[in-house]
Amino acid sequence: MPRSTNPNGALWRTPAPRALCRLFGWMLGYGLVPLGAAGAQGLDDAANDAAATSDRSGAGKPQAERTAITHRVVPFESLAEIAARYGVTVKELESWNKILKRKTGELKAGWELKVRARIAAPPRVKVSYSVKSGDTWQEIAGKYNVPEGDLHRWNRAVPRQFKAGQKLVVYTNPKAAAVRKLARAEPIDPLTGTPSVSITPREFNVPAGGVSVGTPSRGRLTGGIQLPESDLYTVRRPEEAFGSSHTILEIQEAIAAFRDASGYDGALLIGALSLERGGRFRPHRSHQSGRDVDIRLPKKPGADKKSDSPNDIDWDAAWKLVEAFIEHGDAEYIFLDYSRQKRLFEAAKRAGASDATLDKAIQYPRARTTNHGVVRHAEGHLIHVHVRVQCPRDQARCES
Ligand SMILES: [Zn+2]
Repeated sequence: MPRSTNPNGALWRTPAPRALCRLFGWMLGYGLVPLGAAGAQGLDDAANDAAATSDRSGAGKPQAERTAITHRVVPFESLAEIAARYGVTVKELESWNKILKRKTGELKAGWELKVRARIAAPPRVKVSYSVKSGDTWQEIAGKYNVPEGDLHRWNRAVPRQFKAGQKLVVYTNPKAAAVRKLARAEPIDPLTGTPSVSITPREFNVPAGGVSVGTPSRGRLTGGIQLPESDLYTVRRPEEAFGSSHTILEIQEAIAAFRDASGYDGALLIGALSLERGGRFRPHRSHQSGRDVDIRLPKKPGADKKSDSPNDIDWDAAWKLVEAFIEHGDAEYIFLDYSRQKRLFEAAKRAGASDATLDKAIQYPRARTTNHGVVRHAEGHLIHVHVRVQCPRDQARCES
């Protein structure tokens, strides 16, 4: 995939066009539920139960319905902005949300509004940015492509003359937008009878400057970048979710690719990465240099959330996750307990992986002590994988 550093100093990458249609199918399926499918559940449940009810065939099918979503209000957002975001009117928003009638004052951040969207808007990402020496408000706004005025409003308590290390909150639309109008507003292709879909490529805008120093078990992180909140995954502890710029970009791209390829739309829980400055991070032995991330393996639909049983893991989805990290996430290693590797191996075979791919990807069926394969044994990694992202070529102090 092409990659470059854009003028704002952020890493970004544009996905191959062939992936876009499938990506779009995923966007529809994930968190966005056609009203018809939600049925008697009502709007509130619809968003939560997307996994159970979503219609992922939506990309190619005309849809007469609008899409029910739940919008979480960000600070200083106006009703007009929200209406524009989803192609609806302020009056409509008021009619769907009693809370807007009761309270006529300003919107409160965190409120959840029901929206019957005409436009599938991109997920919004909350980022905590740590000011670097020499940064200006204008540059930071530019990095994230947000108006400077908004940046000030989100950070009212922050003095205009800030210092390095100051934390800023940024609400950014990832250029992730697979923006697509629903069938009602979309012309129908006369040859195929399907709506013609316009899609903007998914891009992640990650600030540069997060650098990995030393090795994962004896190292640190400078300018650590926090993995942003996202609809793609859930971050268990944001204060333990810092990585190098490279790692943060690779994680988001790999998970987007995984969602796209697998259609898996259940939760994906992200555990520890590194602390903001890296270094020793108990109880982990590694996780010191911003290159390691623990990810809970995807569960089968309906499986008990607390279950540790390998039978409750969706191994087909788990293989797609591993494959996505190898192909799109620059994974050096993916640690998984040897006792679970056979299930992963069999899922890969079911998915049609070639012998060459299997050989490269998974240590099994070789012995657990073999130094071969991206997926390697590490004790105790039974229901989660630990992905280690490679050192980027341009970071000389990063060591394997
Ligand atoms: Zn780990």
